[in-house]
Amino acid sequence: MGLPLALAALVDRPFLETERYAEQQRRAVREGAHPKVLKFTDAFVRRCKRVGIPMFAHCIVRGAAHQAELFRTGMSKDSPDDGLWPHRGCAVDLIHSVKGWNLNSEEWRLIGHLGKEVSDQMGLSMEWGGDWKFYDPAHWQLRKWRDLAREYPWPTK
Ligand SMILES: [Zn+2]
Repeated sequence: MGLPLALAALVDRPFLETERYAEQQRRAVREGAHPKVLKFTDAFVRRCKRVGIPMFAHCIVRGAAHQAELFRTGMSKDSPDDGLWPHRGCAVDLIHSVKGWNLNSEEWRLIGHLGKEVSDQMGLSMEWGGDWKFYDPAHWQLRKWRDLAREYPWPTK
C-alpha cells in the first residue's frame, strides 16, 4: 500500500505554477541529446505534471571533463576515456523539483513506474537506473546507448 502514500508525498500542484518550475525546465543542456531522449524527457515531465508531481531534467548532456570528474570521484561508473558515456546525449537524470534526489524507495518506485509507462507507450526503450545494483533512480538511458553513441551526431528528425 505504499504507492498512494508515495504519490501524496510527491504531489505539489502549487509548485507547478511557479516561475521556479518553469526555470528548472530550461536548466539541462539539451544540445547534442538524442531526439528520443528529449522526447522521453518532455513526455515524462508532462506525465508527472498531469498527476501533480513537479519533476525536471537535472542533467541531459554532460561534457567529457565533467564525466571524468564524476568517474574519478566514484559518482559514475563510466570512464569517458573511450569517448562513450551515457550522458553524451543518450541519458537523462530526472529529479523532483522540491525534494531533489531525496525520495524514499517507494517514491522512486512510483517515478520508475511512470517513466516506464511513458517509455513503453512511446516505444522509446528507455532503461531505468532504479533497476540496477548500482542504484541510480534518477537516471534513464536508451537501452542501446553504446551503439547509438557511435553514430553521433544524430539526425535531428
Ligand atoms: Zn545519469
